[in-house]
Amino acid sequence: MKYLGPHVSAAGGVENAPVNAHNVAASAFALFTKNQRQWVAPPLKAESIARFRDNCEKYGYAPFQILPHDSYLINLGNPDPQALEKSRKAFIDEMQRCSQLGLDRLNFHPGSHLNKISEQECLEIIAESLNIALDKVPGVSAVIENTAGQGTNLGYRFEHLAYIIERVEDKSRVGICIDTCHSYTAGYDIKSHEGFLKTFEELDNIVGLSYLMGMHINDSKRDLGTRVDRHHNIGEGFLGKDIFGYIMNDSRFDNIPLILETPDETKWADEIRELYSMAAPGQDPRSDMVK
Ligand SMILES: [Zn+2]
Ligand SMILES: [Zn+2]
Repeated sequence: MKYLGPHVSAAGGVENAPVNAHNVAASAFALFTKNQRQWVAPPLKAESIARFRDNCEKYGYAPFQILPHDSYLINLGNPDPQALEKSRKAFIDEMQRCSQLGLDRLNFHPGSHLNKISEQECLEIIAESLNIALDKVPGVSAVIENTAGQGTNLGYRFEHLAYIIERVEDKSRVGICIDTCHSYTAGYDIKSHEGFLKTFEELDNIVGLSYLMGMHINDSKRDLGTRVDRHHNIGEGFLGKDIFGYIMNDSRFDNIPLILETPDETKWADEIRELYSMAAPGQDPRSDMVK
């Protein structure tokens, strides 16, 4: 079964996210549990938490269908000790928010070396950050997203993800999220079916697909290997439509949140409908969900 939906707004409170997902007939969704452009946010209110849980139950969203994303400000590989401390604190707070909401995973970008340390040193700091956070917050997995490799961001090679995971003590609570746009602009040619199969075989060999806890399903405004992170709506960018059909018909992507981070949200409902229309019968769980 394929679980599919957008990164929805949580404006006005996290409890609105499952409602927004339901409104576009999504079977999965992503959200920020706080304002993603601010370091500090007030704690989640008990009422907000209760309503989030109620709405998830009402509309049929279980934790494995929900992929919260952390703040873009956080850099778990920051070479500056004070800045690193700030990021680690903020990340632990995000993990705790997920835990309060009954969610089991948190998606994040690995981090940036800022041209001050080597890639390897940065990856080691990231792994240490994860060990600290996983130790502090039980029950939530840290899900590392691959990146386009823009600026000094790490995570643009599958080897980076493997290097971090190797150093994480509790491997039962670390996972990966593969973003199709990031993969392509990082240089993985997933556009052809042959390239798609080769890339995911490589991912399986280097990291292991058992770590896959989510996917970001985006087209790209930039071409292969440009290392620029600009998402596009499905079928409108350099990736085209075919690759999304490969995903919808590949059982390796079953039972994880497949998240649309496409820029034009007025197209989300249509994108979900179209993606399900590409899949073989029996892949759409929404018939069992509340209408
Ligand atoms: Zn992301
Ligand atoms: Zn993404």
